[in-house]
Amino acid sequence: MNGATNPLRALPSVESLLTSPVGAELIARYGRDSTLEAFRAALNAARERLRAGEPSGAEANSLLEQAADALRERFTPTLRPVINATGIIIHTNLGRAPLSEAAQSAIAEAAGQYSTLEFDLETGKRGSRLRHAAELLSEITGAEAALVVNNNAAALVLILSAFAQGREAILSRGQLVEIGGGFRVPEVMEQSGARLVEVGTTNRTRAADYARAITPQSALLMRAHASNFKQIGFVESASLTEMAAVAHGHGLLLVDDLGSGALLDTAAYGLEHEPTVQESLHAGCDLVAFSGDKLLGGPQAGIIVGRAALVERLREHPLARAIRADKLCLAGLSATFDHYRRGEAVTHIPIWQMIARPLDDLRATAERWAQSLGGQVIHGQSAVGGGSLPGETLPTALVALTVPAPDVVAARLRLGDPPVIARIADGRLLLDPRTVLPGQESTLLAAVHAAL
Ligand SMILES: *Cc1c(COP(=O)(O)O)cnc(C)c1O
Repeated sequence: MNGATNPLRALPSVESLLTSPVGAELIARYGRDSTLEAFRAALNAARERLRAGEPSGAEANSLLEQAADALRERFTPTLRPVINATGIIIHTNLGRAPLSEAAQSAIAEAAGQYSTLEFDLETGKRGSRLRHAAELLSEITGAEAALVVNNNAAALVLILSAFAQGREAILSRGQLVEIGGGFRVPEVMEQSGARLVEVGTTNRTRAADYARAITPQSALLMRAHASNFKQIGFVESASLTEMAAVAHGHGLLLVDDLGSGALLDTAAYGLEHEPTVQESLHAGCDLVAFSGDKLLGGPQAGIIVGRAALVERLREHPLARAIRADKLCLAGLSATFDHYRRGEAVTHIPIWQMIARPLDDLRATAERWAQSLGGQVIHGQSAVGGGSLPGETLPTALVALTVPAPDVVAARLRLGDPPVIARIADGRLLLDPRTVLPGQESTLLAAVHAAL
C-alpha cells in the first residue's frame, strides 16, 4: 500500500455515486433509499478491505458494480419462473401444472378488473362465487353439484368435518398413505375430528372387512387413492362399486379422495389407466375430491363433486368460508374446464400437451439441442409426477451432456437467469425437452451455453 496518502480519503463520496449516471439508473429502478443503502454498504466493505490491506475495489466503477449486484440480488423475487428440463410433468416443487394461455388470460383479466365474482347481473344483487367453476364442473363430469376450495387437503378436511366429526370414518390399512409435503391421510382425518377406523391389511382389504367394521357410530367409508406408490403381488382391494354397496346398504356415505383428478383417460397416451372422476361417480361415490393442479392441469384448487344435498351442506359449513377459492383461481379453473367442454384439453392444456407429445417430435427437438450444445441424444423416460401414476413413465429423447463436473454445471444452471433445472444421471447432465415450454428453447440453449 502507498503509505504517503491515506487511501481511505481517495474513496468516492456517496453523493458522487448517487449523482453518477449509473447511480441515477439504480435509483430509477430500485428507489433512492435502497440505492443509498447499497452504496453505503459497498463503501463500508471497501473501507474494511483497505484497513486490512487487501485489494480494495474502491474505484467508483467497481463500487457502482458491487452496489448494482447487491441490489439486483436483493430485488430478485424469491418466487420466479424457471425452465423445467427435468421431464417431470407435474413437478410439485416447481409449481405443478403450468396453465393454458386461456387460463392465464382469464386470471389476468380477473386480476386487473372488477368482476362478477359475487354479483348477479340479472338482478343487480349479490350473487354467489360458488357458482362460477361449479356449473362447468357439473357439465363436464355429470355430477349433480360441485364445490371449489383452496386445495384437495382442505377439501378432505371439509368433507370429514361436515360428515364425520365425532364419528367414525372407515379406511383400508392399504390406504393410510402419506402423499408428500407432510400430507398424511390419517392425520388429516384426525384434524377434522373424525375417528379413523382401519380395516383390512396393508395388502388386502375386501368389501366384507368394511361391512364388519360398521357400527352405529360410523359415518362414512373412505377410499384414498394411493397416488404415489404402487402395490404389486398378493394384493386385493374392494372396488368402489363394492364399497358403495356396503356403504349405502348401511345408510353411510362413500367418499373418494381421488388425488389427481384425471378427467381424460391416461391409457390413451401409453400410460397406465389413472382412475377418472367420472368413474368414481359412476361407481356410486357420494363425494369425490381431487386437486385442480395435478392431472386436471389447472390452478391450485381442491374440487369436490357429488350429490347435490351433500355439496349444499358443505357449502354451508363454517369451514367452507375459511378455505374458499379466490377469484384468480376460479377464473383460471373455469378457463381450464372450458377446454374440456370443447374437447380441446389435449391440444390446449400444457400438461396434456406434454403427455401427448409424440416421441418423434421430442427426438427432433433433442437433436436440434444436441447439435447446438455438443451433446448426445439418448433414449430416456419422463415421469408424470405430482403423485400421479407412480412408476409410470413416458419414453422420451434426452440430450446428454458429458461434462467434467455435471453437478457444478447443474448448479450454475440453477443460479442463472432464468434458472434452468436439469437432471443428472450416470455422471451426465440430462435435458428433457418434454417439459420445456414452446418459446423457452432459445433461452434454454443460451443458458446452457453460458453454464458450460
Ligand atoms: C395430492 C393429493 C392430495 C393433496 O392434494 P392438494 O391439492 O395438494 O392439497 C390428497 N390426496 C391425494 C390422494 C393426493 O394425491
